[in-house]
Amino acid sequence: MEFTDKTIICKECGKEFVFSAKEQEFYKQKGLEHEPKRCKDCRQKKKALFEEKNNKN
Ligand SMILES: [Zn+2]
Repeated sequence: MEFTDKTIICKECGKEFVFSAKEQEFYKQKGLEHEPKRCKDCRQKKKALFEEKNNKN
């Protein structure tokens, strides 16, 4: 199956972001069936927040 770039609207900030063919392939390889709901910026922010929490102990 061929993947094509897809535009998704971020649930967090409402901005459009591209879920690229390459990322879709990566997701499939990882067995992830769901598309990302957040843009990269928001995902990074979440990740940073999560890591910050974990580093507090
Ligand atoms: Zn976002």
